[in-house]
Amino acid sequence: MLTYNELIDLRKKLANEEITLELVKELIWKNYKKGKRAWHTKDWKERKIKVIKEKCEICDSRKILTIQHLSHPKRYSEYERDVTRKYAQIFIDSNTIVEKYEFREHVIENYHYEPVPLCPDCKGRRPNKRMRKNPQYLCAKCRHEFNEPIYKSVDELIAIIYENEEALEVRDKCFVSKDKWRNQHNLSKVKYWLQRQMSKNKDIEMIGKEALLLYLDDNIKYLSFEDTITACKKCASNSDLNNMELCPKCKEHYKGVQYPTCIQCLPEEKRKVALEKIEFGKEWRAMHERLGAD
Ligand SMILES: [Zn+2]
Ligand SMILES: [Zn+2]
Ligand SMILES: [Zn+2]
Repeated sequence: MLTYNELIDLRKKLANEEITLELVKELIWKNYKKGKRAWHTKDWKERKIKVIKEKCEICDSRKILTIQHLSHPKRYSEYERDVTRKYAQIFIDSNTIVEKYEFREHVIENYHYEPVPLCPDCKGRRPNKRMRKNPQYLCAKCRHEFNEPIYKSVDELIAIIYENEEALEVRDKCFVSKDKWRNQHNLSKVKYWLQRQMSKNKDIEMIGKEALLLYLDDNIKYLSFEDTITACKKCASNSDLNNMELCPKCKEHYKGVQYPTCIQCLPEEKRKVALEKIEFGKEWRAMHERLGAD
């Protein structure tokens, strides 16, 4: 586990390109052991002493005080996904041209083509296939009967989409991905996913760096004890803890966002009930539900 100051230093070096992305990742993951939490470290304990208040910021109790975070860092993979999506959109919006030969290669390598049958006479789409008749096919449009339908080749379809992205022929979902997903895509969709992949390849360094900086910011904030309160064990165990804010009346105690004030700012009668409930170790939520129902 890296210390607070080590993380700040690492972030600075990454932002200034004094250290490679790979090395930063290695340093973070290598030091992160499953089960080994920040609050087990000496660094954490030493800094905690400096920020912990002498009494609970919710109920004023002085018994068994802990530091409680009101927000928690996201996982790195979540940042990476968000940033990847953002870059893909920028790439697509910029209308970067995908070369025809490049697109063709991609289609042939990654998709099976399941062509739409056409009438050889009038090029009508999807003639009726008859089970017991010969010739097998009947074109509903020109009534032509035949055994061998014709097909557009992949090259013809690619030529068409480069002429007109909206053309009818390129809207058929006749491309099946060769991966295990076997996704059925039309040619436009195939192009979209290629563009997404290209953006990811092109911007991989930038995406990684941006995601990692966000991740580090989040973790530095977490270790800094920003957005924390001191809470006694009883208050800390209540389920509203991630939704606390400073009481607008006294600006001293914390309260759940759904309540108008903190316990201390309640009228005398209700306050006594609330504090007693906490003393008896009753659920914070249950208590407020009762008070709210008055
Ligand atoms: Zn408390
Ligand atoms: Zn026909
Ligand atoms: Zn208050």
